[in-house]
Amino acid sequence: MKKVYIETYGCQMNEHDSERMLSILSGGGYVQTDNPRDAEVVIVNTCSVRAKAEQKAYSSVGRYAQLKKRRSETAQNRVIVFSGCVAQQEGRKLVGRFKGVDVVVGPSQVHRIDELIRQAKTTGPVVAVAPDTDQNRFRNPVKDMNGVKAYVTIMEGCDNFCSYCTVPYLRGREVSRNVRSIIDEVYTLVASGVKEVVLLGQNVNSYRDNAGEKQVTLYELLSMLNDIKGLERIRFITSHPKDLTDKLMHAFTDFDKVCPHIHLPIQSGSDRILKLMARGYTVEEYMDKINRIRTLKPDVAVTSDFIAGFPSETDQDHHDTIMFVRRANYDNIFSFKYSDRPLARANKYGDKVPEHTIAGRLKELQDAQLEITRKIYRALAGTVQRVLVEGDSKKQGRQQGRTMHGRLVNFSGTVPEGTVADVLIDDYSDNALYGKHIPEEE
Ligand code: SF4
Repeated sequence: MKKVYIETYGCQMNEHDSERMLSILSGGGYVQTDNPRDAEVVIVNTCSVRAKAEQKAYSSVGRYAQLKKRRSETAQNRVIVFSGCVAQQEGRKLVGRFKGVDVVVGPSQVHRIDELIRQAKTTGPVVAVAPDTDQNRFRNPVKDMNGVKAYVTIMEGCDNFCSYCTVPYLRGREVSRNVRSIIDEVYTLVASGVKEVVLLGQNVNSYRDNAGEKQVTLYELLSMLNDIKGLERIRFITSHPKDLTDKLMHAFTDFDKVCPHIHLPIQSGSDRILKLMARGYTVEEYMDKINRIRTLKPDVAVTSDFIAGFPSETDQDHHDTIMFVRRANYDNIFSFKYSDRPLARANKYGDKVPEHTIAGRLKELQDAQLEITRKIYRALAGTVQRVLVEGDSKKQGRQQGRTMHGRLVNFSGTVPEGTVADVLIDDYSDNALYGKHIPEEE
């Protein structure tokens, strides 16, 4: 049996691209292995958003290219694929830099992975990084998802050009997927047992399908998906604050399957830094949106992203950010150190913050959030949560699942996967809740 090994860096869009490649290759008889030495195809799906992830991907590809020098038949025939945003950024240069790389494929061409591998076997190295702006880029022909939750891409690319980000250059401008193809995919997923879909895009709030008589926005799409029988939960990420409309906020109250959780990246709590980042909103405008969602849906869980040490960030800017984290009362945040990225405008900004200062600020940010997360989790002790069971937990002898708010729950019980179960919360850690299943009374 042919085997494929895949290593993924970066965001959920990349995770989903990896799933798509695996799904396509499984249609051609490949099975996944966790040992690159056994694999006929080795894929490194890369991320260029942070320098650290990019460096890690380079060293992995270098290592796997070395494996090709072994004498075994598998080693000799092994195909090495360099995919994702670094592939898009570097293109053909990668073939010269890493002897042994056979396929270089950008994010908008991963749907051609099977064909590209076949081509590389006959013609030698293949580079496919030209932007694909039509609906083909969303092609996901083989459905082999047995899980409870599935990601569904609804749009790709971004028109925002935040000064620190390379997405608009690497993933291209915004392209929304045809609504019919999204609905069809969700029906197929639900028929195969999926209970929760996560709609994916770099900026899902600007989703638009103008093909029909009436424009379909994310709100209308959620309304259509809400009517699909058998589907229990719908989430969407990532939302850009400036494109979050009042109408979309009402989706949290109008549609019972839309989970009360929004990931709304702010990036900094300083207006001066937000302006340099070209984010298109002020701190107060952002806070006003959170307040409006909370007025509609008081218990909504809000999560966010932050960048520590953006060029010229002062102690005062950092202090304002920490104060904002406390004020926003986030469920959780994802925080990263600023790093220069090729193509991003902020590379040229002077007054770079020293690495040790960035590291200290990142730690302070994370500590500030931890206090808040613990407080939120502590308050949930003694409550009963509706948990969609995803399977066995890494914590021995437990199962795991998520609440509607997206909180991870490890619990004792023997509940079939895909069931929504009541769990009594009795403990918490910094990133999960713990509890026990309460069986329904007969
Ligand atoms: S909104 Fe900004 S940070 Fe997000 S993908 Fe677009 S350019 Fe990048």
